[in-house]
Amino acid sequence: MARPEASKKHIGIYPGTFDPVTRGHLDIIERGLKLFDLLIVAVAAGFSKATLFDVDERLELIRREVKKYPNVRVESFDTLLIEYVREKKARTVLRGLRVMSDFEYEFQMALINRKLDASIETVFMMTSESYAPVSSRFIKEIARLGGDVSPFVTPLVARKLKGKFKGV
Ligand code: ADP
Repeated sequence: MARPEASKKHIGIYPGTFDPVTRGHLDIIERGLKLFDLLIVAVAAGFSKATLFDVDERLELIRREVKKYPNVRVESFDTLLIEYVREKKARTVLRGLRVMSDFEYEFQMALINRKLDASIETVFMMTSESYAPVSSRFIKEIARLGGDVSPFVTPLVARKLKGKFKGV
């Protein structure tokens, strides 16, 4: 007999700062969307991190890169992640893992979130090998110093980064 929840839409939330979105993030989105009926990319608008791109810019960049996927939505949130996940009636948080140093932070965050709401699971997707060294932080540094960021971000993001550092 089908369980009642079997008919429910399975919504996944992929939260992050995305300052700016990289090819590594896009790879997680492309592979992650196959796991859910709907994948919501949730851009953290909280102010705990100083960002280069404001929240509207970050949303716009991701939206333009993912508009080819019908089951991906891009939104911002400024509450506790768990509250946002509940509000969306989702049950799964998707995060990416690159290197060992990601693990400690991600592990802690997943455990804290589980304490806050045990019904919400965090799932991790391992980076594609070629994107393992790709992080928004390093990309901003490369762009600031006038380096070529094209292996790490899309042409649109590369242009926006260039614009940010013009005349610096
Ligand atoms: P946060 O500030 O919340 O860590 P990020 O925008 O840096 O947000 O990253 C969002 C998520 O995407 C995190 O789980 C991060 O580990 C993951 N991620 C970032 N870059 C990559 C990559 N190159 N490959 C796989 N996962 C990645």
